[in-house]
Amino acid sequence: MMNENIKSWFETHKEEVANLKKTFWENPETAFTEYVAAETTREFLLNHGFTEVNAFDAEEKGGKPNTVIAKWGSGKPVIGLLGELDALPGLGQDAVPYYSPKEGPGHGCGHCLMATAGVTSAVALREAMEKENIPGTLVYIACPAEETLAGKAVLARDGYFDDLDIGLIWHPSGSDMDFSTGMVMSATTNILFEFQGKTAHGGTAWQGRSALDAAELMNVGVQYLREHVTDDCRMHYVYRDGGEAPNIVPEHASVYYFLRSREENNDDLVRRVKLIAEGAAMMTETKASYRVEAGCHSYHGSRVLSKYGYESAIKVPDIEYTEEEYDFAKTMYKNATGKEPPKDLDKLLPSKVLKGEHIDGYAGGSTDVGDLAMKCPTLQLSGFGTAMGLPGHHWTVVASAGTDIGLKAAVKAGMTLAQFAYDIFHNQKIIDEAWEEFHEDYKEPYVCKIPKY
Ligand SMILES: [Zn+2]
Repeated sequence: MMNENIKSWFETHKEEVANLKKTFWENPETAFTEYVAAETTREFLLNHGFTEVNAFDAEEKGGKPNTVIAKWGSGKPVIGLLGELDALPGLGQDAVPYYSPKEGPGHGCGHCLMATAGVTSAVALREAMEKENIPGTLVYIACPAEETLAGKAVLARDGYFDDLDIGLIWHPSGSDMDFSTGMVMSATTNILFEFQGKTAHGGTAWQGRSALDAAELMNVGVQYLREHVTDDCRMHYVYRDGGEAPNIVPEHASVYYFLRSREENNDDLVRRVKLIAEGAAMMTETKASYRVEAGCHSYHGSRVLSKYGYESAIKVPDIEYTEEEYDFAKTMYKNATGKEPPKDLDKLLPSKVLKGEHIDGYAGGSTDVGDLAMKCPTLQLSGFGTAMGLPGHHWTVVASAGTDIGLKAAVKAGMTLAQFAYDIFHNQKIIDEAWEEFHEDYKEPYVCKIPKY
């Protein structure tokens, strides 16, 4: 049975939760500039009984707060609920079932729903803890910059997760809430390679040394490397700069790389790509330098928490969609894929909670939840928020998140996170089992991939 206090909190705050989601959705902000989202979160926490609320700039660059940490209660256990705040650049979109771009960023990964689910789960659970005198500490952490794979890594590096006994977070997706285990997400190191050459007139180019040539030779080297790495390794890059005009030898060029692989192969992949950069510099008589801008460890969810999480999740009422919401999803599906939407409505909008199974899988994507998971037993729930069978980081995610399809997902997830954390507060066994597994899974101490510059 779902806890009555948590359930009734969500029932009596329906409108407020809808407005909160609307504010997050209407104010998409990219990595480390989540100022409106952080302020909205801070206010919401203070208005709903939290007294210890700390809003700050996780980058410590003197900017406005982009991160919020709130605490309630005292002593053990310390259960952490988390949310993400950032949006994606260039994905502004109206809440309509067809492509209708708006200037600026958009919530193409649905973090506006995570921000809502996270903070509402915390305030609902806080109220239950107060009413029922539940001992222990509840921590809510609204995190910045997940999309650049930096926010939680920086928070982990700076010790903000050190006291947590358990970490729980939810991410929307166009699928049912599936408690399957075994999927491993890649570790990544994101490096900016810079080359410094010598400029000259294009007509007397022998006097110069082109930094752009070095960058191009580096990329050629990386193409040859691809055959000699294991299948999990992925190297994607974009040019950041490479000169201004063809008749001026470029003295500066830079390439930004994401180097992804399984955890155990990541350091070596980085080492090899750095060697290639140095080789390219040698060939062109330029200088290579590099700087890790972001990066995170591989993530896999706690199997123990998946098992217990499912038991908690099925206590929460199912999502029910209206006729209009199904129509919205059908139209959107058609417009996005050019195909007829699935006839089976269960394959169109996700509403189920699945126990799942253990699958040994490897996903090319990454999440900085991996860094949280190296600090304490962690589970990222996922599911709901958009139609099924459509791409992520896409206008359809922004559109869905702007409607009640997104709101229903956030409420369902908020209730589930609160209920699961509530159940953990009442069952020390879950924490003990999760830590036993944690010590098996993580034998090496945590080292953040991002240095403090
Ligand atoms: Zn995301």
